[in-house]
Amino acid sequence: MKREGLSTFVSSTKYMEIDRTIDRDININRILVNKFRLKNNANILIAGAGPSGLSAAIFLSEAGFHPRIIDKKKEISPYSKALALNPNTMGILQQYGLAEIFLKKGYKMPAVSFRKEKKLLFRNEFSKVSHKFPFLAILPQKESEELLLEEVLKRGINVEFSTELISLEENGKGYLSKIKKNGNVEEFNADYVIGADGAHSVVRKQLGFHYEGVHEDNHWQLYDVELETDLPNQETHIVMHKEGGIIMIPIRDNIWRVAGKVEKPLEYLPEGTKVVQIKWETPFNVTHHVANGLIKQNAVIIGDAAHLHSPIGGRGMNLGIEDAYLAVRLIKEDRLNEYEQLRLNYLRNTVKRIKFVTKIMTGTSFFIKFARSTSPLGFPIFPFIKPALRKFALGLDKTDAVNMRF
Ligand SMILES: Cc1cc2nc3c(=O)[nH]c(=O)nc-3n(C[C@H](O)[C@H](O)[C@H](O)COP(=O)(O)OP(=O)(O)OC[C@H]3O[C@@H](n4cnc5c(N)ncnc54)[C@H](O)[C@@H]3O)c2cc1C
Repeated sequence: MKREGLSTFVSSTKYMEIDRTIDRDININRILVNKFRLKNNANILIAGAGPSGLSAAIFLSEAGFHPRIIDKKKEISPYSKALALNPNTMGILQQYGLAEIFLKKGYKMPAVSFRKEKKLLFRNEFSKVSHKFPFLAILPQKESEELLLEEVLKRGINVEFSTELISLEENGKGYLSKIKKNGNVEEFNADYVIGADGAHSVVRKQLGFHYEGVHEDNHWQLYDVELETDLPNQETHIVMHKEGGIIMIPIRDNIWRVAGKVEKPLEYLPEGTKVVQIKWETPFNVTHHVANGLIKQNAVIIGDAAHLHSPIGGRGMNLGIEDAYLAVRLIKEDRLNEYEQLRLNYLRNTVKRIKFVTKIMTGTSFFIKFARSTSPLGFPIFPFIKPALRKFALGLDKTDAVNMRF
């Protein structure tokens, strides 16, 4: 009996130990599972459903999160705005099975030509870069946004239009936001906030950041216009005049984007090119800024909310999608606090380069005007600057601190 009792005691103590070990393991697992769940159940608010916000929603969904995404406008913006997806963006989209879908809608632009009035100075072929997407994928921003929206909805995320972020307040645990919907103001607690709310970003202002740089009065005129022309209709043409350069980008079906800082860009079309019908025209002010900070606690600003620049180089939408990709990667790895350190300098340098190239195209100083009017004489140096210009046009000019090259 005693023996039995002892053995029962020993075995029951053993069992208790085993039980305790199991309990501890279960607890550890529970904590881990909870931590995992917590992370994936984190309340993430995306303010803004432009290309940056919609991309962030897709990337978060793929990482196992279910963000809330709101936009104050009623529906997708109807304008063609940004036309080009660059190779890096295509590399990002490919990871989500979207590159082919974008390519089906748009077309592959293989080159950019530089002209002095009608005369071809040089043609820069994109196929010379070593990249799996050695071209620009061209489609109007409205259609890019529609494709992104479709993907967001497919993933079971509702995009709440006519819903405006009013304010944001850090409360120690996360962010308390005030959101206006159907005339009512509701409160929403978010563990993370992604401010993808464009140039006039409420998130940027609420975080106490502002755009750095001087506001420039740099008025451009932009047209989507039907043209009759014998210019190759699948490549961009940069047409230099003494007064300034204009950009001509074929969209599709004889519709071209024409933009420039000269007073009436359509009067600077190369000889033999005729305007058939203006489909859309808008003035816009080109200015160059990067916000003085990108993140506070768990709130981050991306896209136009964080940077603004001229359309030369077609980087606006592309940089926003890259920002979204990096921010989500860091949220997933619990390292969002590194975002600014990894991204801010890269953005500053990129905007600086865009500003420089824009100045050469549009500047009015005597030297720049002289350089533009004598550009054909620069023919011998073109072979040397061609690779750099090619990389700039494709957004492959410099990598960032995390080497986001896809
Ligand atoms: C006329 C024009 C022409 C352009 N042409 C080119 C081009 O040729 N190439 C190029 O690369 N780029 C171009 N751009 C820039 C490009 O369109 C932007 O870089 C791009 O749209 C940035 O995307 P985003 O998502 O960061 O911001 P946005 O597209 O501005 O989206 C921000 C969204 O946030 C929403 N929002 C704002 N405030 C709130 C709030 N408080 N609450 C909720 N929602 C809010 C807005 O309604 C908007 O839908 C052009 C822009 C304009 C205006």
